[in-house]
Amino acid sequence: MSPILKRVVYPWLANSGYLRRRADGGSFCVITYHGVLPKGYQVSDAQQDGSLVSAENFRRQLQLLKECYHVVSPEQVRDWIVDGKDLPALAILLTCDDGLRNGLTSMAPILREEDLSCLFFVLGASLAENSRILWYEELYLLLLAAPAGSYSFDFLGVKLELGDRGQRRSAWWSLVKKLSQYDQVARARFIELSRVEFGLPDGWNAECWNNEALRERFSLLKGEDLRQLVSQGMSIGSHTLNHPILSQQTSDEAWREISESRSLLERAVGKPVWALAYPFGDPASVTTREMQMAEQAGFQCAFMNVGGGFGAQLPRFALPRVHVTVDMNLSEFEAHVSGFHRDFRSRLSGDTA
Ligand SMILES: [Zn+2]
Repeated sequence: MSPILKRVVYPWLANSGYLRRRADGGSFCVITYHGVLPKGYQVSDAQQDGSLVSAENFRRQLQLLKECYHVVSPEQVRDWIVDGKDLPALAILLTCDDGLRNGLTSMAPILREEDLSCLFFVLGASLAENSRILWYEELYLLLLAAPAGSYSFDFLGVKLELGDRGQRRSAWWSLVKKLSQYDQVARARFIELSRVEFGLPDGWNAECWNNEALRERFSLLKGEDLRQLVSQGMSIGSHTLNHPILSQQTSDEAWREISESRSLLERAVGKPVWALAYPFGDPASVTTREMQMAEQAGFQCAFMNVGGGFGAQLPRFALPRVHVTVDMNLSEFEAHVSGFHRDFRSRLSGDTA
């Protein structure tokens, strides 16, 4: 993001009312959150924590949306998609991915104070007996904790070179792609083998559930937490069972991730689960195969995590969303919501704003 856009152009466009006028006419905009940074939590890695917003910014964004747009409930969106009922002009849907504990402890209280409801896309893994933290977050923390050096694993034929943080981050992303090709049992086995190889004790990351701020940041909501969200007026959608990169998987595994998550979550919350958000949600992670599977599995619609803002095309099984990040100021947020940012970027091909 260019500093001139962020500090000069977007504030000017927002303050002049241009962004709001521009959004008019686009029927629908979906916003993706990934949670709110819990009280007392120190950001340890700007990239890993970059999708969680501060409580203060979250509240400001909601207040802007209430003032200038029309935040609708997930059920209104379902009725619009399924039955063709009307949505108000400038309709906004709030969503939150991953089902981290702070969704219940830090986000839901603010949503309730603002009298808004949100569609939480959670994992089937939330319902597992031993559910703790997302496998790819655990892997990242593990790679950061490992002593520097070269490692080689016969299992899955993995070789790792761990040095500075940048190197660890790129090793991590290669592993996320590779491990997405396997099932959750193989992923858990690889994580355990690498812990031993790195010389880290069992329970090396016990803080993630013993320290309250870390627990809110990293641990997954449990079944009773999901039911509590529903009782507070929130809705539950599926984000698959385990959050793999679906496009890397065999058809059998991808189908299981998509279809079993729906039935599992429906049983847990006692309500229809009608929406899916693809894990990672970018074009490299989602192909037409996954879109067809989402439809066959009985979802009414499915969401990407890119391309959002008013005026976007709205394919039912690839609905675009605005991904909110921690560093977005309020006018930048509005530039995304209005669709201005998306159109501006697509006009500047090759731009990296
Ligand atoms: Zn996710």
